[in-house]
Amino acid sequence: MGEFELIRNFFAAAPCAQGGVGVALGIGDDCALLDVPFGEQMAISTDTLVAGVHFADPCDPFLLGQRALAVAASDLAAMGATPLAFTLALTLPTVEAGWLEAFARGLNLMAQACDLRLVGGDTTRGPLSLTLTVFGRVPKGLALSRSGARPGDLVCVGAELGNAAGALPLVLNQRSTTPDIAQPLLAHYWSPTPQLALGQALRGKATSALDISDGLLADCGHIARASKVGLQIDNHRLPMSLALQTFLGKADAQRAALSGGDDYVLAFTLPGAELPALLAAGWTIYVVGRVIEGLGVYLLDEAGQDITPDQRGYQHFHA
Ligand code: ADP
Ligand code: MG
Repeated sequence: MGEFELIRNFFAAAPCAQGGVGVALGIGDDCALLDVPFGEQMAISTDTLVAGVHFADPCDPFLLGQRALAVAASDLAAMGATPLAFTLALTLPTVEAGWLEAFARGLNLMAQACDLRLVGGDTTRGPLSLTLTVFGRVPKGLALSRSGARPGDLVCVGAELGNAAGALPLVLNQRSTTPDIAQPLLAHYWSPTPQLALGQALRGKATSALDISDGLLADCGHIARASKVGLQIDNHRLPMSLALQTFLGKADAQRAALSGGDDYVLAFTLPGAELPALLAAGWTIYVVGRVIEGLGVYLLDEAGQDITPDQRGYQHFHA
């Protein structure tokens, strides 16, 4: 199968590549054309996943397609952007129809769940890697940046933490457990749910936001640096699933929630006055700490004592 046939069969023919709102021109020309309505801005983010670095090789191509797009779309959620379109640059060692069919199916499923249209890409031969660029739109001035947190704001997250990190020993076949524990953890790893609707609901309310990819403490460090504030996290308020706590035990579950990667859950700062209306509207929001004057991320125990992990091992926790 040649490059053009491959593109046509597996990508141009996919339901998610048939255009839609905001797509003036999709796959097939030298560029795609996207419409940005007056008064809106385009949010753009690129992620590369390399086999053996960002995912195990070999792995299930269906799950890979799903996960690659979910990870990319999560950046749109973190900006409060409405999904518009994406491109896919695919580097493949060999053309295997079965692999491509399953990959495209996973990609398509996530694209439809996120309301993202495939509008172009590139196809080359080489070691397996994927680069996805996502495009979204957001009313001018309302994107959720990392730089607006203010002392007094609450530090919040939009879902339970640590599930993907808990799944990693299962993904790598280092440990096994019963299906009732393994399944919810693996689902978080392979099919993270980008918090797109929550991101949009936080426009004009949250003072800063990001999606957690490297662990709550490390990623809160980005908000602390960009906003020039301190973030206090309460160790006893971390939301964790029963599956995670049963699988890892409480202490390791807490470590996964604080430092585990791959969660793709939103972390954001919010003036306290905004919280009641968001909760009343049905949003799941967990308050895990507060913004203070200062610089860096601090972990507190139930008594308010600073238990921030030792700087030597965890330098990235401090701004
Ligand atoms: P060019 O030589 O102009 O870069 P290509 O031959 O690489 O064009 O691609 C032809 C068309 O197919 C373009 O519209 C491109 O965006 C699209 N395309 C190529 N690879 C992919 C892919 N993996 N997924 C989706 N669209 C693709
Ligand atoms: Mg090309």
